[in-house]
Amino acid sequence: MKNYLHFINDQFIESSSGKWFESENPYTGKIWSKVSRGNSEDVDKAVKCAKEALDGEWGSYNPTQRGKLLVKLSEIIEREASRLGEIEVKDNGKLIAEMGAQTKYLAEWYRYYGGLADKIEGSVLPSDKKGVFNFTRYEPLGVIGMITAWNSPLLLLAWKLAPALAAGNTAVIKPSEFTSASTLEFMHLIKEAGIPKGVVNTITGFGQEVGQALVEHPDVAKIAFTGSGVSGAKIKELAAKKIMPVTLELGGKSPNIVFEDADFEAAIMGAISGIFAATGQTCIAGSRLLVQSSIHDKFVKRLIEVASEAKIGDPMSMDTHVGPVTTPPQYKKIMDYIEIAKSEGAKCVLGGNKYTGDGASGERFVQPTIFTGVSNNMRIAQEEVFGPVLSVIPFDNEEEAIKIGNDIVFGLAAGVWTNNIGRALRMSEKLKAGTIWVNTYRSVSFTSPFGGYKKSGEGRESGKESIKQFLQIKSVWIAHETSTANPFIMKL
Ligand code: NAD
Repeated sequence: MKNYLHFINDQFIESSSGKWFESENPYTGKIWSKVSRGNSEDVDKAVKCAKEALDGEWGSYNPTQRGKLLVKLSEIIEREASRLGEIEVKDNGKLIAEMGAQTKYLAEWYRYYGGLADKIEGSVLPSDKKGVFNFTRYEPLGVIGMITAWNSPLLLLAWKLAPALAAGNTAVIKPSEFTSASTLEFMHLIKEAGIPKGVVNTITGFGQEVGQALVEHPDVAKIAFTGSGVSGAKIKELAAKKIMPVTLELGGKSPNIVFEDADFEAAIMGAISGIFAATGQTCIAGSRLLVQSSIHDKFVKRLIEVASEAKIGDPMSMDTHVGPVTTPPQYKKIMDYIEIAKSEGAKCVLGGNKYTGDGASGERFVQPTIFTGVSNNMRIAQEEVFGPVLSVIPFDNEEEAIKIGNDIVFGLAAGVWTNNIGRALRMSEKLKAGTIWVNTYRSVSFTSPFGGYKKSGEGRESGKESIKQFLQIKSVWIAHETSTANPFIMKL
């Protein structure tokens, strides 16, 4: 059994209460680690250290020095990527094929933002005033609270931590209570990279105890959050009381839209990747598959053929396609939604039950499930399931596809499958989502902004522009001609 401690001011320390909680391996169902259960006292300690670091060594670093440290960190991450990937699989049960690739790829965020650190430039403004010089400068916000979900712990953290550090902020991190281990292992790499003490801290524990204390702490300047809409709304409400900015990366119910002119097999693979990769436990899941009526039956038939061949089982095996569901509550939620869909009159054409094949004991595996006959107003089409459950909805023409695609409270992503360039452009303009994929699905990159329209969130992560979410702009006025004009009147 491995024991994990908080990371504060470069030290691994126990919780002030001495309490712990356990982490279970979703595949084996066995407890594999004990994690410190933090509270508001631990949060306060970490925030104080992060604040001191801002005024101390870290605050004295110039942007080039910060950038070099991030690049060094990216090299260490590459060396440790497969070990970190294996730890994530132990905690969240997603495939090693996916988590190993993610942990390797996250190095790129640190390298990219390391390079960007000394390219953040203010500007000299043309002034309408006589005798003044006016310029802008970008400054860090301060201590950033980072709260992450369990499905991709280190990748979601990289999207926040890399730009925040490049911009000169410090961080207190709270990973999901289901997947704390990889973030605490990552703290060893922060130490090795030589990032000064107090700059990056991690407190583990529960949302109500650690997360909320972090949001409410008076010295936390911003919260960067990834998780459910319910938690996001609570965080935004608390943040409003402090007039504190937030970035919210929330859920989705993305339409994946297949036109009759699409490359048929590529669209099949795109539909499968959209919903069954990562066992459907991804915010960008293409969980509403909109198929043009003229190819609907043929498409569904082939989809069933391919999905039926998915190998379900051990996430550590490179040839597994679908792994376990991460948590027991998540398993129950998925099974409940399957029943809801059946009771709404949707037709289950594949799966619809728990999977009990080789090595899949207990209540942790859900069969890849496909519903047809779904109309867009059913709950199975409107609510995020976060599991391997696909709703197929037919449509007749482009106009109807746009109407159905946008008829939802979410707006995280959308997929379009077509060989008509005009249609691809029209659809990418009309669909209301932060990311549109045409003839591809699930592509993300450090170079490209990611985030949600509507209830899928607020703000963007990744890409050059997103670093501004961790900066504030200051306008500086210097008079180079003195004036004795009437001081009781504003200088317009
Ligand atoms: P969750 O909201 O239950 O938990 C997310 C994090 O918030 C955890 O660390 C949790 O402890 C913390 N938390 C919970 N309540 C809190 C509170 N009141 N105050 C502060 N912190 C609190 O979400 P989850 O189940 O871990 O993740 C799944 C959700 O995340 C899905 O909706 C999914 O779509 C979304 N997600 C979004 C993205 C994205 O980039 N848009 C990426 C991954 C996951």
